[in-house]
Amino acid sequence: MKFEPFFGDRGKRAFWIAGPCSAETEEQMLETAKGLASSNIDLFRAGIWKPRTRPNSFEGIGTQGLEWLSTVKRETGLKVCTEVANVRHVEEALKHNIDVLWIGARTTVNPFSVQEIADALKGTDIPILIKNPINPDIKLWIGAIERIYDSGIKQLGVIHRGFSSYGSDKYRNQPRWQIAIELKRQFPNLPMICDSSHICGTRDLLEEVSQKALDLNYDGIMLEVHPDPDKAWSDPKQQIQPNEFSAMKDRLKYRQVFTDNAEFLESLENFRHQIDEIDEEIMSLMASRMNLAAGIGAYKKQNNISILQTGRWSEILDKNIAKGNQMGLSAEFVSGLLKAVHQESINRQHQIMKNNED
Ligand code: PEP
Ligand code: MN
Repeated sequence: MKFEPFFGDRGKRAFWIAGPCSAETEEQMLETAKGLASSNIDLFRAGIWKPRTRPNSFEGIGTQGLEWLSTVKRETGLKVCTEVANVRHVEEALKHNIDVLWIGARTTVNPFSVQEIADALKGTDIPILIKNPINPDIKLWIGAIERIYDSGIKQLGVIHRGFSSYGSDKYRNQPRWQIAIELKRQFPNLPMICDSSHICGTRDLLEEVSQKALDLNYDGIMLEVHPDPDKAWSDPKQQIQPNEFSAMKDRLKYRQVFTDNAEFLESLENFRHQIDEIDEEIMSLMASRMNLAAGIGAYKKQNNISILQTGRWSEILDKNIAKGNQMGLSAEFVSGLLKAVHQESINRQHQIMKNNED
């Protein structure tokens, strides 16, 4: 797929989207937009149709909010965007000259809805941003990108807003950065925006998560901004005031992907060389470990002993988590690594047992 850039300075600076979670009143929209106009944002956001988890909560102001977005455009010169979830939303938004549309997380999960939106977009060239599905399924996200692309939309971007999980967690939606990074690896030309507000769910984490996204070379940040966040009709805990947004935006550092500074490039090359050597050593140690596992498999088979011995596995895990901890490696990393190694080891032993039976 060949995407067209929908903002000119990609790779040189971050792309900023800010505005309220929901359009509530024309005054609230204008106050927010005027508060943001001096912060050099690229797009003003506001939800008009709100997909709410439970009924009887505020489900968005509806079509009249599109008029307010037009007022914001006229009075501040800002470009505006909103969420669409069905054909009617697309038609209304196009009629009101909304500049960019986004597809929400609850819509990306449903290929029927995405296809209907894609069909409604045929013949237009409006830029579209696609949020990740609420469940951690990269194929569903890619499927949505393909459907919209196939309808002829080439100015495409994605928004990483995290993934739902059951129970309480530090984040409202777990970032699972690896999924977004994998999408970036598969589609390096597809702009990736981090919606820190919906990942965090609370204000105190916004800066940390936004900086992490910029450190990972995301193209931009989406943040929810409201003149009186605690009184917002939706997502009050995660919204910030325009002046807080502006201060945070100034503190956040955008990292360049490339540089021609020769000294930096040489040191980087040196670090990478050392990393490659260590990786090679790890691979060769892994190969030796697996050969030993195969040997143990044959030996267990001869003596009619089961492959999995839970006591031994717990011992390996506990011992190495403690050792790793002393060396500054997190328990999460050590257990993830050992689980993968252990699984491969079991697979090898299975193979041996099966072969011996043939
Ligand atoms: C939103 O951006 O207001 C929104 C509803 O987001 P999401 O689809 O990520 O939940
Ligand atoms: Mn919101």
